[in-house]
Amino acid sequence: MKSRKKCILVHNFTITILSALFGAALLAGCAGRPDPSKEPVTRTEYALGTYISVRVYAEVEDDLLQAVFDRVMEIEEKMSVSEDDYDTTELLELNRRAGAEPYQLSPDTYEVLQAAREYSELTNGAFDLTIGPLVRLWNIGSEDATVPEEHAITEAVSKVDYTDISFESNDTVYLEEAGMAVDVGAIAKGYAADQAGRILLDAGVEHALLDFGGNIFTIGKKPDGSNWRIGIQHPEEPRNQYLGILEGYDETVVTSGPYERYFVEDGVRYHHILDRDTGYPVRNGMLSSTVVAEESMEADALSTAAFVLGMEEAQELVLSTDGVEAIFVNEEKKVWISPGLRERFELTAPGFELLS
Ligand code: AMP
Ligand code: MG
Repeated sequence: MKSRKKCILVHNFTITILSALFGAALLAGCAGRPDPSKEPVTRTEYALGTYISVRVYAEVEDDLLQAVFDRVMEIEEKMSVSEDDYDTTELLELNRRAGAEPYQLSPDTYEVLQAAREYSELTNGAFDLTIGPLVRLWNIGSEDATVPEEHAITEAVSKVDYTDISFESNDTVYLEEAGMAVDVGAIAKGYAADQAGRILLDAGVEHALLDFGGNIFTIGKKPDGSNWRIGIQHPEEPRNQYLGILEGYDETVVTSGPYERYFVEDGVRYHHILDRDTGYPVRNGMLSSTVVAEESMEADALSTAAFVLGMEEAQELVLSTDGVEAIFVNEEKKVWISPGLRERFELTAPGFELLS
């Protein structure tokens, strides 16, 4: 490992959850007594390319939060494809063997790649787990990102094809063409949030909020029995300004948008969600896509896919997928809310209009 961990904060400042502004009644831990004066235990660390906050409303041992962050780091160390951060990870090794030989992964990484392949199939490649060559070429998020040469884009596009990956027994995967590369940036945070949530649930935690850089995962309701109030990021305003508020519990809420990572060249904004057909950042009129589901990995994959699909096709995807709800916003400032959320999402930003 080259460089890592940035900091540990006791309180979470970046979180998009509004709940703390509302309920004051806090419940002491699963083993302890209710204590309204007690603050939740919150820990924030930098991992998976973002700030990750875990807020537990219980008297928990330090070991429990340590176990959560150890698990998150384990996932990062297996699945990162950043050669700046790591000399080697499972996915770097897999990508280095593209077109040459299969590579055996851990069950974790294999599971994420298999799920990613299923979402690639489900969305006909709007989400494509072999988007790696394009992600590497654009390198969006790095300080020296610029628009690549046309021929390099064409070359990278020719390497992106989720049907050219084979899954073998023993957690072994083979990328069939030289130059192929998988990238799980659109799904790994969701997987990590699910795994973190599982550790807390297994420990008996009944009320918790996890924020994986905008991937929100809630356990139970707020300690006072009311719903969490989750601010959905405004797609055109700075962090922590909201499009509206979603009320809910025991679910995950994941937003994808072009504002998260981008650079500007000659007045044009180039963001990090890429169209595998054109090789350029997606431009289809979408401003942001939010997906609500039980499993964070699913919501993460589908929010990215929905952004790529655009307003109409994304609606079809959500309406035909069980247990999935969504909020989509386009450049005309129209907001589509899936039927299951209409009673519990309040649009608060001025200038937007609900689509019926
Ligand atoms: P998200 O923030 O979850 O929407 O994921 C965006 C990240 O997913 C990018 O930073 C890339 O690492 C990766 N990515 C970009 N475009 C795609 C795509 N079309 N399919 C799958 N992953 C993508
Ligand atoms: Mg995603």
